[in-house]
Amino acid sequence: MPEIKVLTEEVVSKIAAGEVIERPASVLKELIENSLDAGASKIEIEIRKAGRGLIRVYDDGRGMDSEDLRLSLGRHATSKLNTFEDIYSLATFGFRGEALYSVFAVARLKMTSFRAGAASGFSIEGEGGRVIAETPAPPVKGTTIEVADLFFNTPARAKFMKGDAAERSHLIKAVEEAALANLGVFFRLVIDGAEILSLPALPGGLWENLKNRAAEIFGRNVYKGLARVEGKTPGMAVYGLVSRPDALAATRANQHFFVNRRPVNSALLRQAFYRGYGHMLTGRHPSGALFIELDPGSFDANIHPQKRDVKFSSENEIFKTISNTIYEEVLLKQTAEVNMTAPAGENKFASPDVPSYREQNVPPPPVAETGGLFEHAAQQQPGPAAPDWRGQSLVYLGQLAKSYLLFESAAGLLVVDQHAAQERVLFEKYLEEFSKGGIKVQPLLVPLEAELSRSQMETVLKWKDWLNSAGFEMEQRGPSVALLRAAPSLFYFTQPAFAEFLGYLSEVLGEPEKAAEDIKRNIIATMACKKSIKAHDFVKPQESMRLMEDLRKTRDSYHCPHGRPTLFYLSGSDIARRFQRSGAL
Ligand code: ADP
Ligand code: MG
Repeated sequence: MPEIKVLTEEVVSKIAAGEVIERPASVLKELIENSLDAGASKIEIEIRKAGRGLIRVYDDGRGMDSEDLRLSLGRHATSKLNTFEDIYSLATFGFRGEALYSVFAVARLKMTSFRAGAASGFSIEGEGGRVIAETPAPPVKGTTIEVADLFFNTPARAKFMKGDAAERSHLIKAVEEAALANLGVFFRLVIDGAEILSLPALPGGLWENLKNRAAEIFGRNVYKGLARVEGKTPGMAVYGLVSRPDALAATRANQHFFVNRRPVNSALLRQAFYRGYGHMLTGRHPSGALFIELDPGSFDANIHPQKRDVKFSSENEIFKTISNTIYEEVLLKQTAEVNMTAPAGENKFASPDVPSYREQNVPPPPVAETGGLFEHAAQQQPGPAAPDWRGQSLVYLGQLAKSYLLFESAAGLLVVDQHAAQERVLFEKYLEEFSKGGIKVQPLLVPLEAELSRSQMETVLKWKDWLNSAGFEMEQRGPSVALLRAAPSLFYFTQPAFAEFLGYLSEVLGEPEKAAEDIKRNIIATMACKKSIKAHDFVKPQESMRLMEDLRKTRDSYHCPHGRPTLFYLSGSDIARRFQRSGAL
């Protein structure tokens, strides 16, 4: 008896499906790609139960006749490839003929299509790879594919699904990416009956349309911080919208890379992107949609089962072109003004001197939790010479530039950054209230609104209960507008500050697996403090003394939650030295 058995077709098809179809969003991505390959100008998507219930995609593309419809379900059935070499000259998204076969293996499938010239439309229906019914259908232009009960026959795989909100967010992202890369196509997305996206194909040029879509998809806040970049080298073009260096984000949630309009996760592209910002990042992340156009023969999209990664034939060239383009377009242009007024000899924006991709060892971009928001907070200690101000009695002298408070003490002149000190005090008070479970909440007379991208909105909704426990009562108004009804009474937000706060927050919370409870608390506290205080406030003498009393009680009175100093001393001897006197004051 031989031990080796040949697997049955059923098992083989499920294994193949496992490679291509990881989650509902992978199905959607494949269906959208097929619609685009069919020349659609309109793609309408309906989702139910986070894609587990139903994924329906309608397109007005060229359609299939009855024969092609039957053939399309077979393994390696494709109209896009004839010889293996064709892979290197393809302009289509699909070419392996595996998507429909894989989806069919693990779901109930119904496809209806009509091709111009055919006698009528045609419909084919089945489940788990078996055809159950074939029927004529009305001659409606294009194709509708319905995928129901995904993974109904592979319970082990179904278990790997994340919660509904996470799967929905992946689904929305698949549509957002397709819409960013295919500006001439109308996209509409409806989830559980609610319209989430409706992106008409507008007349107008590339940039105008890209900007319109980016504003819709990224949300106004992120969009406002984007700048246009464009670069070219022989055989390659780069263009897109990317963050200005003064508008970086807390996470990399809003980064989209496309190679010949195919969305990809490429470490090379990401590193080149970061590299272009040189030293301007300081732990923060650029956002953007970056498009690379290459000769089809100079990259391979066949190295990843879901075609999410690509391999380039000339990595160094690509790395350099991207990082130089970003550097020149964003950093040089955007900071030219700053440079002109910067003191001579202090050029913060020196060329990053881009080494080749292979030579250099770019550290992975830091993740949100350690991303510079509060990472320095506990590490810095006051200089050894500075006397401990907390033991000294203070006399308030006045305020400088509506920003700094001046105090006299036995040790000299104490200069306090009132903003940083307030942040520190609020930060600790808030965290204390949080850990005692008693955050004082104040309803807002006028609720504040913030516009978010759809996927950010999903994240905020997913964290709604937790945010509630953090003192923020949030509500959804419309697909992309969040409403703040109540906030911790410690904080005061203006409308734009709240919008920015929520934007950061949704990005950080979007990576929940990595964020432990105390880290999340720290992040929310840091950001809320920063956003809730206005610099350049006039402070009355009593207020300044109260602030110092509060600061005295904090655990780290020397640093704001971001790690910047809150105060410094000009000692008596320092002052005396400046007047060329010996001794103290
Ligand atoms: P691939 O896209 O790699 O060719 P698929 O399994 O995704 O493989 O699709 C198989 C074939 O079915 C395609 O090559 C195409 O001819 C046809 N097809 C699939 N979806 C559509 C559609 N929406 N409109 C027209 N033809 C389609
Ligand atoms: Mg395909």
